[in-house]
Amino acid sequence: MRLSRYFLPVLKETPAEAQIVSHRYMLRAGMIKQASAGIYSWLPLGFKVLRKLENIVHEEQVRAGHIPMLMPTLQSADLWRESGRYDGYGEEMLRMQDRHGRDMLFSPTAEEMFTDVFRSHVKSYKDLPLTLYQIQWKFRDEIRPRFGVMRGREFLMKDGYNFDQSKEDALHAYNRHLVSYLRTYERMGLQAIPMRADSGPIGGDYTHEFLVLAETGESEVFYDSEITDLKFGDREIDFDSVEQCQAVLEEFTSRYARTDETHDEAVFNALPEERRRVARGIEVGQIFYFGTQYSEALGATVQTPDGTSVPVHMGSHGIGVSRLLGAIIEASHDDKGIIWPEGVTPFHCGIVNLKQGDEAADGACEALYGSLTALGLEPLYDDRNERAGGKFATMDLIGLPWRITVGPRGLKNGVVELTCRRTGESEELPPEQAVAKVAEIYAGI
Ligand code: ATP
Ligand code: MG
Repeated sequence: MRLSRYFLPVLKETPAEAQIVSHRYMLRAGMIKQASAGIYSWLPLGFKVLRKLENIVHEEQVRAGHIPMLMPTLQSADLWRESGRYDGYGEEMLRMQDRHGRDMLFSPTAEEMFTDVFRSHVKSYKDLPLTLYQIQWKFRDEIRPRFGVMRGREFLMKDGYNFDQSKEDALHAYNRHLVSYLRTYERMGLQAIPMRADSGPIGGDYTHEFLVLAETGESEVFYDSEITDLKFGDREIDFDSVEQCQAVLEEFTSRYARTDETHDEAVFNALPEERRRVARGIEVGQIFYFGTQYSEALGATVQTPDGTSVPVHMGSHGIGVSRLLGAIIEASHDDKGIIWPEGVTPFHCGIVNLKQGDEAADGACEALYGSLTALGLEPLYDDRNERAGGKFATMDLIGLPWRITVGPRGLKNGVVELTCRRTGESEELPPEQAVAKVAEIYAGI
């Protein structure tokens, strides 16, 4: 993309309404624009990152054997009356009537809808196990929407629902989700720690929340410092293997890590003092096993081999896709702007032309742009007629992990400059080598 032809409405001023750094940078970098409280328009740069996160979530869900589909955002109240949640859900549910006076609502979550599809089409244990999921906009009329996309009213969520014949199978689905979430967040350059949580209105005994440590997090968390040394890495996992998923679960959940709702001071204090950590975290996902609560209420049953009809065991699993943009920025920025992890960056590499209009500089930039594009990478070429300082400030603000700077002086010596956004380190090298290096960095991503 050439910046002269892109739509990147960066702001010079720091917006007064933004209290935390991710919100400030998302507004300043022209990623989002508030439409009304807790509701945002996704401008091109923000939309690009949102799509990248969505893709990672899809890829990792499909890898784990889960099946994507899409439910409507507007739902009939009847189903929710059937499950018994319509009256209890409270003020967060946005309710409305259509022209015929029928009660409708904007989906805050979708247990009912998925269970309804299941009960209509699945009758036999032979069709199990089954995990269906969607990535769809949700609406919750939060009393205090704040922190930009972190606590919005309209937000993008991946929500998945497993249907299993037995508790044992459903717990495998739970473990499989835990493993798949670990992979998902690591690909986004995040460490998200699974913590024992409270199941709240969804109910059930098994639930973990995934938290990204950040000072601005809304949850207070308590954990054993050893947990932050754990990495999922690039290990291969057979998601159908009960043993393999169980082993990962035990490795990542055996140490103390809890949100304030489940915190147990006595157990925590039994840890050696130097390992006790009290911090704040951003909830980026949650998994639940809740048994047969919804399947019984809605009549989602299957025939077992001996011909009896049993309610299916279910769980639901959510990732806050739009909240993740904020969480990543909270975890990865400096005083100049965002620092995108390579896995989610909106463009792979910036190209800064120090002297637009100079024949050699323009030609070298075009050649770099062409070579990077031919390799399947997406560069952002700042080809505007602007001062170098302004170009650097924009690149730093929008946070591309790598930048190639091209100027007439360097070109006389046959070199351009390759700069790492995170470390600020630069090296001079011939243009072809800069391209090769950028390609190598992204080869495994
Ligand atoms: P919270 O406790 O933060 O209100 P929740 O536990 O009610 O969230 P879930 O029902 O578990 O949320 O939804 C799954 C994920 O969706 C959460 O882990 C979070 O990342 C995201 N999420 C929930 N509410 C919001 C919101 N208002 N804005 C943005 N993302 C949200
Ligand atoms: Mg939650």
